[in-house]
Amino acid sequence: MADYTALLEAGREAVLLASSVTRQVQGAIEQVRAITKEDDSPVSVADYAAQAIVGRVLADRLGGDVILVGEEDSSYLSDDTHAAVLDAVLAAVREIDESINEDQLLRAIDVGAGDTHHAGFWTLDPIDGTKGFLRGQQYSIALAYIERGEPVVAALACPNLAIGFDHDVSQVDAEGSLYVAIKGDGAWESRCTPDAASAPTQLQRLDHDEGEAITVCTSVEAKHSNIARTNTLMDEVAEPWDRLPIDSQCKYAVVARGQADAYVRMPVRKTYIERIWDHAAGALIATEAGAGVSDMFGRPLDFGHGRGLEQNQGLIVAAPRVHAKLHAAMESLGYGRD
Ligand code: AMP
Ligand code: MG
Repeated sequence: MADYTALLEAGREAVLLASSVTRQVQGAIEQVRAITKEDDSPVSVADYAAQAIVGRVLADRLGGDVILVGEEDSSYLSDDTHAAVLDAVLAAVREIDESINEDQLLRAIDVGAGDTHHAGFWTLDPIDGTKGFLRGQQYSIALAYIERGEPVVAALACPNLAIGFDHDVSQVDAEGSLYVAIKGDGAWESRCTPDAASAPTQLQRLDHDEGEAITVCTSVEAKHSNIARTNTLMDEVAEPWDRLPIDSQCKYAVVARGQADAYVRMPVRKTYIERIWDHAAGALIATEAGAGVSDMFGRPLDFGHGRGLEQNQGLIVAAPRVHAKLHAAMESLGYGRD
């Protein structure tokens, strides 16, 4: 069995350093657009830069044979027609790693070209919530270590998400928040700043009181989640409710810390397979904080089938009482079986 504490410390450092670079790219988004001359290239620049930093930190801390399954590989950047993007990625990474050269950069990105055919491997979404990133809103850097089909270590940076309950999640916070978890050992919250290791607090998700409004997180993007069905589902639960749209795995964090009571992901089409890096870190953090995590049929998420959650459909993350209600409502509406 791996030393989870060592993995957690490496993971925390990796997402923390990566978030300082993604912040800079997001802050200079118009300049990056002007240099790379493509509308959505700032997110590519931030994606590659974040993956390079995470790859480099994990390899430095844990040894060269680290297995990382990332969303990106270096083939796009190695193509001469994308030289402007490569230059912008190099400049971004050099903000924290001054001496890195082009070859080292491409190799660091390809640390993340690992595959899932191992008993234990890392998975990374370098920028989860790309649309939120481009809108100047919420996104996350999501890293988890999966062992025999289950996330056991998680580090989730939410660089724009203020710590605490009473903050408006549509506002950008300069310090952000950082969540870590080890299976069986709890989930912890701290600021997403270099002193993150100094004062983490443990998350303890209280259950939801009957009669209080249920706050449910959903995607912002209509293409990612069926909002009409989510509305019908919440009406079926027959308690007052409101909706909190947020991009990325910040949704898991907001439920884990008790600011919202649920995160529902209702498939837009039946054939969509969720990606492991879109859920592994968030699912462990929410579980360890005391939330129920399952797919829309109440099945546990199964991370043991490659890059997709092949055995699952949809998602319910919620305080235990609300989870049971949502699952029952899902069944009575026949959602997922049609
Ligand atoms: P969110 O910010 O929760 O909307 O989720 C962002 C993630 O949704 C991205 O990382 C994508 O991998 C994922 N995604 C892309 N297309 C779809 C889709 N059709 N259904 C569900 N998720 C999707
Ligand atoms: Mg994603």
